[in-house]
Amino acid sequence: MTRIIYIPFDQLNVEHGAMKVANKTSDQIVFVESQRMITGRRWHKQRLFFLMSSARHFAAELKSDGWQVTYLVSPTTVDGLRQMQNTFPDSEVVCATPNSFRLKKQLEEFGVTFVENDFFLTSSTLFDLWAEKQSSFTMENFYRAQRKRLAILMDGNEPRGGTWNYDADNRLPPPKEHEWGQPLKWNFDEIDEQVFSQIPDTAWGEVNEKTWATTRREALAALDHFLVHHFKEFGPYEDAMPLGSWNAHHSLLSPYLNNGLLHASEVVKAALVRFEVGDIPMSSCEGFIRQIIGWREYINGMYWYLGEDYRNNNHLNAERALLPLFHDPEKTQMNCVKSIVSDIYERGWTHHIPRLMVLSNLALLTGVSPQEFLDWMREVFIDAADWVMVPNVIGMATHADDGVLMTKPYAAGGAYISKMSQYCKTCVYDPKQRTGPQACPFTTLYWDFLDRHVETFSKNHRMFQQMGGLRKLNNLPDVRVQAQSVLQGLVSGTV
Ligand SMILES: Cc1cc2nc3c(=O)[nH]c(=O)nc-3n(C[C@H](O)[C@H](O)[C@H](O)COP(=O)(O)OP(=O)(O)OC[C@H]3O[C@@H](n4cnc5c(N)ncnc54)[C@H](O)[C@@H]3O)c2cc1C
Ligand code: SF4
Repeated sequence: MTRIIYIPFDQLNVEHGAMKVANKTSDQIVFVESQRMITGRRWHKQRLFFLMSSARHFAAELKSDGWQVTYLVSPTTVDGLRQMQNTFPDSEVVCATPNSFRLKKQLEEFGVTFVENDFFLTSSTLFDLWAEKQSSFTMENFYRAQRKRLAILMDGNEPRGGTWNYDADNRLPPPKEHEWGQPLKWNFDEIDEQVFSQIPDTAWGEVNEKTWATTRREALAALDHFLVHHFKEFGPYEDAMPLGSWNAHHSLLSPYLNNGLLHASEVVKAALVRFEVGDIPMSSCEGFIRQIIGWREYINGMYWYLGEDYRNNNHLNAERALLPLFHDPEKTQMNCVKSIVSDIYERGWTHHIPRLMVLSNLALLTGVSPQEFLDWMREVFIDAADWVMVPNVIGMATHADDGVLMTKPYAAGGAYISKMSQYCKTCVYDPKQRTGPQACPFTTLYWDFLDRHVETFSKNHRMFQQMGGLRKLNNLPDVRVQAQSVLQGLVSGTV
């Protein structure tokens, strides 16, 4: 009996998901390029290019390997599946459980049979078992349980090297002189060229070169490149924001982990093999492993555990519309924000500290609606997906969930950005000043933010130090006045 095996664009792996249960001789493999998906929002061109080209390459590879493959361009995913069922009446449609509430619901309603989604290292059953036992959902506790469960970097029941966490070693600012190295680049092939010509002009950003791999072979080369050239220094400079390198020592693997070209298990395995060679410091190895078996799994687990409504949280009542600078870097003079948004325009990527401590911090301090900010982030990042963006933005970045994920907001003034980046030296603003014409908008807005939410944050013992600092401010009335003019300037695109 023929089955229709539906492969979403974030499950491109022959050994995982529905391909794992597919039969080459009897099953029909189907991909649907949904036009609603492509034109429904103002996506980044890089993102559309990457997702479409990766899927078309994967479909072509399956075909040349002898699978029966249909690649449909349809108004919606469900239209494509309906067309397939018309061609193969009475065929069961099979898919691995999708990675978002929305697609899961759509496919459920269509009557799709789900097989296990094994694109993560932790099943939702296993995650829920952990979550149900917690009084607070601390990632560190989850991560330690993962280390034990998966027997990674362990000496029996103890962490290898004697400590679980090397975060304290991993917060070096960017040095004045440092060889950051270059990321790999790729050549456009015929499929890439074809996809490139079909990207709608209305999409945001640019695709001047092929920054992101679109095949498994290329993704494996990216993994190898990271392990050879960047892994060693990944840890110490994990939080650094240098001016001369857009990727620092980050792995750039999130797009491939998220669309299935790479699986977390092989990335972890390759990193551990590389670590055993002996020249990788424990702080780098542990720091990287923490991201993959800790953060990534925790975020996915929490997405499903917290449910579909979690995305609508807005505990701090942040209602401001998205600031114009998020789409147009010319709408700000802030060097950090201008540079980072320009980087995103070019490549659809920036690492976790610019995402958290600059962009999200700005949205938090200015009271931008978490949902508008979430929509923007989903549109412009190459690695964006619902499961990963929702908890990161609603929980970690904007504290819109009243501390369910993070016990305190990631709010910071210019001093943090000045310490961890090279942006401030050439900025028109001064991170040390909170009032006056040169005052750094982050510094002004940071104090104003604490002041606006004084009642909420005074109840949070983890905010004790910050609130103490607020009480000691000698010019709070001036800060409030300055904050109002900064906010107006940000809205009009002049600050
Ligand atoms: C506000 C905000 C939004 C984010 N949105 C996304 C997103 O849409 N997609 C995404 O993959 N990551 C997201 N992240 C996490 C992180 O910023 C990216 O995974 C990382 O920058 C990707 O680059 P990299 O592969 O070089 O990561 P590396 O720094 O090399 O880390 C290795 C891997 O760890 C995983 N990882 C690390 N942190 C996280 C995290 N917080 N959540 C999930 N996975 C993590 C990623 O798979 C990443 O590839 C977000 C973080 C923040 C603060
Ligand atoms: S001074 Fe303020 S606005 Fe300018 S780069 Fe530094 S943190 Fe950003």
